[in-house]
Amino acid sequence: MNRRKFLQRTASGMLLFLFPPWLNFDSALAENAVRLNVWSAAEGGYIMVEKVNKTDEEWRDLLTEEQFHITRKQGTETAFTGKYWKTTGEQGIYRCVCCDQDLFDANTKFDSGTGWPSYYQPIAPENVGTHEDRSWFMVRTEVHCSRCEAHLGHIFDDGPQPTGLRYCINSAALDFVASAEIKR
Ligand SMILES: [Zn+2]
Repeated sequence: MNRRKFLQRTASGMLLFLFPPWLNFDSALAENAVRLNVWSAAEGGYIMVEKVNKTDEEWRDLLTEEQFHITRKQGTETAFTGKYWKTTGEQGIYRCVCCDQDLFDANTKFDSGTGWPSYYQPIAPENVGTHEDRSWFMVRTEVHCSRCEAHLGHIFDDGPQPTGLRYCINSAALDFVASAEIKR
């Protein structure tokens, strides 16, 4: 075997080692996926879901400019402009506009007078996540979807009972589904 052939064979051997054809990348990814146990209104119980990770480009393809700015870039819609700030009393749930995860039950929505949809608790603690937000010279608690990390809004401690909390949420991060349309 001459030197050139040897190098060619070695190179193709390296490629096979790095990218063996029998390895299914999809299943390899699925096995490594982070799973969450979250509440599902449609199932009436907890279900396992995989975390959703997408690039900004992928999110831009799925969302409107406003939805992208608010959920992926920690934006805030102008008060009294979103589609859900008025409380109608209609029964149903509010899902994440990015990944469809259930986030809030209409039963916990109240009229806060702030111009943003407000809830005294999430549909289940596992369906949201929080972290400390020190932007704009304030210390606030940011709240996001636990499945896809979509920014939803902030939590304040001036809400009504039974929790005393106010989840101040951007309408643009939500998608309302009436009770009759929630599949079981
Ligand atoms: Zn989400």
